Amino acid sequence: YSCENIRNFSIIAHIDHGKSTLADRLLELTGTIKAGLKGSSPQFLDKLKVERERGITGQHGHVDFSWEVSRSMAACQGALLLVDATQGVQAQSLSVFHAARERGLKIIPVLNKIDLPAAQPERIAAQMQSTFGLNPSDMLHISAKTGQGVSDVLRAIVERIPPPAGNVEEKLKAFLFDSSYDRYRGVISLVSVQNGVLRKGDKIASSYTRKRYEITELGIMHPEEVPTSALLPGQVGYIACNMKQSSEAHIGDTLHRVGEVVEPMMGFQPAKAMVYAGIYPVDSSDFPKLEESIKRLTLTDRSVTVQRESSTALGQGNRLGFLGSLHMDVFRQRLEDEYDANVIITAPTVPYKVIYRDRTVIISNPTDFPDVSDPSTQVREVHEPVVKASIIVPEDYLGEMMDLCFSHRAEELDHRYLDVSGAGSARAILTCTMPLSEIVTDFFDKLKSRSSGFASFDYEDAGYKRSDLVKMTFLLNSKPVDALALIIHRSSEQAVGRMWTKKLHKVIPRQLFEVPIQATVGKRVVARETLSAMRADVTAGLYGGHYERKMKHLENQKESKRKMKRVGSIELPQEAFYSILSTK
Ligand code: GDP
Ligand code: MG
Repeated sequence: YSCENIRNFSIIAHIDHGKSTLADRLLELTGTIKAGLKGSSPQFLDKLKVERERGITGQHGHVDFSWEVSRSMAACQGALLLVDATQGVQAQSLSVFHAARERGLKIIPVLNKIDLPAAQPERIAAQMQSTFGLNPSDMLHISAKTGQGVSDVLRAIVERIPPPAGNVEEKLKAFLFDSSYDRYRGVISLVSVQNGVLRKGDKIASSYTRKRYEITELGIMHPEEVPTSALLPGQVGYIACNMKQSSEAHIGDTLHRVGEVVEPMMGFQPAKAMVYAGIYPVDSSDFPKLEESIKRLTLTDRSVTVQRESSTALGQGNRLGFLGSLHMDVFRQRLEDEYDANVIITAPTVPYKVIYRDRTVIISNPTDFPDVSDPSTQVREVHEPVVKASIIVPEDYLGEMMDLCFSHRAEELDHRYLDVSGAGSARAILTCTMPLSEIVTDFFDKLKSRSSGFASFDYEDAGYKRSDLVKMTFLLNSKPVDALALIIHRSSEQAVGRMWTKKLHKVIPRQLFEVPIQATVGKRVVARETLSAMRADVTAGLYGGHYERKMKHLENQKESKRKMKRVGSIELPQEAFYSILSTK
């Protein structure tokens, strides 16, 4: 046996540049699936179960999921870098390219959609040369839709990408890079066999957890599961073993034979939660049901972290950690669709580092953030996560994009041009450092609308940076509502305070008494709105009544209002929370 005839590769591209279409053509050309009608793409890979369950195929390539993309690369020796010849290089093409490079993958540049009249393959080729340092003579020009040039892609894969290295004689070593959950068979893992042979009935162990399993089924994704008698070195396939919990399948784990010792492969950093939010049931008695739903969803999306928390205002809930705000939206959508869960989600927050004299605490719930103006809290410094952002945009929008970045506390702004010359507007890449918190809410929407949809955006983790942050607390009727707390930069306390009190004023229904809505930082009130009382107009019926009587009635009414204000509490429908807290 030799791996000579195996090629393992990924297709990397910005969303909509044609990954799924090209994958279909390649599967047809290799006889793996039957050819459909030309141009009517069945998008076969998107229909695969694993992808379906994740429900995010369409989002792949988005920055939140770069972790998922990079772990698939771990099983490959090469990558097709696919670029739409009508669109050119997009921000996400950059990050996936660098990830592939770092992993030592052989990269084959492919220009797609050359059948379209708007395609400018020469110009885009020059752009790819200046951006990635790739040679235009190595670039393939294809149409994944019509099939033009696709056989050249197959040839390039065979000729340029090296076969995997591996030896049947050596000790079994398999790299676990993905997993999914099947109700009947338990955890199904995708593995890349490095050395040795894996067969049904084999007793294996995890280097990470040291737990032992027996292989009950294995095979190759063809592209649906096809059972085989063995998985050989260089092959990528699926295995089922008696693994019951998704948490046992550690992404980046090395599997070996029970009783043998192998050097584990370099694994992955676990996916890091970057955005947190509290999720609560609208009806508190639904908490057990909601928690169960969340648990079940996390079985198919392991990158979500879950912790219990409770709020004075909202009761029992869970604090969830996500890879990004899009990831959070996808998850919430699935929760609502699949489990019919009526949930309240708090404003998203990033993890802050609060440094005390003797310890550092990571805070992912604004309620826990200390009052930094109070010396007794002994806070030395507060640090917030920052990212290195890149935006690719036609030069006409460069100024607009710079303004947008500055208004989101961008620093170290820099730009250069991707096109040297050519017809039409040149494309520029803008890079800067920005606080992560500035991009978790509506930055992406603003970016799209202020660039008429032309800007593409990507970012990578750039560590933590010291910052002047404060906790903003909202008081309704002089009582703080914990679930509404926010952590914000001191420079924006006025603006944020005003905006949120206005928002609250709009969504809270009038009560029988007057309700002050205050935004506070420490002990200072930075903004205030007053929700006037809903009043039964008792003077209305006093036809031509005496002025004095009228006044007396008003006085009485005021009095009773004051009483209510003192003793009463606000009836705040939980639905109101939802509209306050939703970032939409
Ligand atoms: P993905 O998001 O990268 O998987 O992109 P898809 O494969 O879903 O393609 C996005 C859109 O571009 C679909 O409407 C495809 O039909 C279309 N498309 C893909 N390749 C080509 C091509 O070579 N020519 C044309 N005209 N359209 C294409
Ligand atoms: Mg696709």
